[in-house]
Amino acid sequence: MPCYSTVRVGRSSSPCLAIELEQEKVSRVWVFDLDNTLHDADAHIFPVMNQAMTQYIMDHLELEEEDAHALRRHYWHIYGATMKGLTRHHGIRPAHFLHETHQFPALHEMVVQRKRLRHWLQQLDGRKVVFTNAPSHYATRVLNLLGVADLFEEVFSVESSRFHPKPSPRGFARMLHSIRAHPADCIMLEDSLPALMTAKRLGMKTIWVSRRLHKPNFVDIRIPSVLALTHIRL
Ligand SMILES: [Mg+2]
Repeated sequence: MPCYSTVRVGRSSSPCLAIELEQEKVSRVWVFDLDNTLHDADAHIFPVMNQAMTQYIMDHLELEEEDAHALRRHYWHIYGATMKGLTRHHGIRPAHFLHETHQFPALHEMVVQRKRLRHWLQQLDGRKVVFTNAPSHYATRVLNLLGVADLFEEVFSVESSRFHPKPSPRGFARMLHSIRAHPADCIMLEDSLPALMTAKRLGMKTIWVSRRLHKPNFVDIRIPSVLALTHIRL
């Protein structure tokens, strides 16, 4: 019996197919976004972070709060990251901006714990990495507070991307090179649609973590929470 080059779902009594299923499990790479994917950043973290970014823009570009707020949102919409607009158009150093806007002395009180997250991740077959637009020190703190840092083989931060944050294809290319994975083996879980669009264009499978109902055609699956993935087979 011939071996099939791809095996998508189901199980078989064929030994050849069983071997391929195991190989697919090994080669599969789960690429997780961090904020609003692995944990709820909207609840406590993003309001503080957004205010810190607005304040940074007020201080460094000498803008009133309303204008700084509007500029922050404008860059977020067109670049997917406020940092990118500030570095491209205002000469802001990305490392300085990220350091200043990701200071959370009380982060342990702001991270919303998610029951069963660790158990769920442990059950997931395949490699697991984090791909975030956040700086490394913040991502590591959040993952440690969630109690799951040791379950990821790599945390690919915005510094790792050399400040080419998602949805930049350059950032994706660096990530894929770093983790030594082929896009076709990757399943990306994200709350950001532009990032998922890049992922799909590169050939990844895409899972949108969102409670919104309309699913764009570049999203393979929509789930309300990563924990809901338990019952889905790709
Ligand atoms: Mg996110």
